[in-house]
Amino acid sequence: MSISLLPAVQAFLQRDHGLFIDGQARVAGSGRHLEVIDPASGEVISRVGEASQADIEAAVASSRQGFAQWSKAAPAVRGGVLLKLADLLERNREELAQIETLQSGKLIQISRNFEVDQAAHFLRYYAGWATKIGGETITPSLPSFNGEQYTAFTLREPIGVVVGIVPWNFSTMIAIWKLASALVTGCSVIIKPSEFTPLTILRIAELAVEAGLPAGALNVVTGAGGVGKALIEHPHTDKVSFTGSVPTGLAVGQTAMAANLTRATLELGGKNAAGFLPDVDVEKAVAGIIEAGFLHSGQICAAAERFYVHRSQIDAITQRLCERLGQLKIGSPLDESAEFGPVTNKQHQAKLGQLFAKARAENCTILHGGKLIDGPGCYVEPTVILANSARDSLLTEETFGPVATFLPYDSEEELIELMNDSPFGLSASLWTNDLGKAMRLIPQIQAGTLWVNMHTLLDPAVPFGGIKASGVGREFGGAFIEDYTELKSVMIRY
Ligand code: NAD
Repeated sequence: MSISLLPAVQAFLQRDHGLFIDGQARVAGSGRHLEVIDPASGEVISRVGEASQADIEAAVASSRQGFAQWSKAAPAVRGGVLLKLADLLERNREELAQIETLQSGKLIQISRNFEVDQAAHFLRYYAGWATKIGGETITPSLPSFNGEQYTAFTLREPIGVVVGIVPWNFSTMIAIWKLASALVTGCSVIIKPSEFTPLTILRIAELAVEAGLPAGALNVVTGAGGVGKALIEHPHTDKVSFTGSVPTGLAVGQTAMAANLTRATLELGGKNAAGFLPDVDVEKAVAGIIEAGFLHSGQICAAAERFYVHRSQIDAITQRLCERLGQLKIGSPLDESAEFGPVTNKQHQAKLGQLFAKARAENCTILHGGKLIDGPGCYVEPTVILANSARDSLLTEETFGPVATFLPYDSEEELIELMNDSPFGLSASLWTNDLGKAMRLIPQIQAGTLWVNMHTLLDPAVPFGGIKASGVGREFGGAFIEDYTELKSVMIRY
């Protein structure tokens, strides 16, 4: 049974949402709106304004002023505001989780535990960095000419106005990653949420004001891709932090370079591999595959989509996986007992339908699922496919859905070759009980993040980002500091 919506959520949905500029909500100058659709029911649940060029100008002007003020705030003040915002996320947990589930179709438990609770953890982790960003002192290397001496040091200075462009799959948490990285380093930030899921960040912007963030340090500009492009092209924005698909990421990188050598961090998609060595236990492997490929209906950039299993075990593992998937309760994401919900929008559902048709046309074996579920919602069956060759579309094209495609292998060399046979390299996982073997294989696998006996779990202390065509730059750990600050070298003669 579905939970009841909080009165605060119902009131929020009914508001005429605009943009959030200079510390307050503002009606979009274009007079146009985007409809927000609940993917579980197919119904329009709310609408937000679509930014005009004048709105973009206003947001950038506000962000420049916000930067001038916020970049001078003491590090402890910056950290303190992020800590307060984390508290406010938790205090408004149920409201934010319900709004997130309504706009994205994410199971309510995932919205509560990941989108809100994990976002609060990430905020607190970033807040800790506020007081730990520094440069180094250097002794210059060349000999002195006439007895004069030199010393040098480096400063880490905030880069300026950051444009954070967010996809629809984790619209709350990814917005928090971007605003936290920017604000903790002293940058101001404009968030451009996905046109499919713009609601939670509008509420978070209000909470940020309550947390003490000065006007202009965080602005939210809603609209489709063109709005994001105009923000990157603006001469007074300094950096774009983009998370989304590979084709859009390539366009964003080109726009940024052409604009003004605008700095760019690109967190893109991929076609992540999971390799199972012959010693794995079948039950544990199947539990791992469900975690790796089916959490949030596979709509996780780091999810595994290519599964390579030793020939001796492929039948046992796929058979057990199909049994387990057949037992999942498919239902409304607002039903706390549902284990599998819809995908986020109709376009994505249709794309998955086309990929299933391709799999059939290429004579892949559909072991489980492989169909869209009829109805107004965007439901898709959890799907298991056995491919014929490494070149099959389902082993090369990102599905970003609840689809696990398998191929058997015979030797360790072949496994490594298959895992690396991709232009992408966001994440990968290796499953084995032989730690020594895992340690020898780790350096051979091409991925920005490699998990052993686990998949998908992101931790704020562990840097995350792609190699090859999966991106440029890193989030989390201390690695993000390089992307959000400029390094200034100072040299002194005395
Ligand atoms: P998308 O690329 O279609 O859109 C992402 C964002 O970019 C949206 O806000 C969109 O409005 C905006 N956009 C579109 N065109 C633009 C342009 N020309 N200039 C500037 N902005 C533009 O991605 P999506 O469908 O929202 O998300 C799914 C994709 O995101 C998947 O490919 C997935 O792998 C990837 N993803 C990657 C990560 C990561 O951290 N590496 C995380 C989540 C999702």
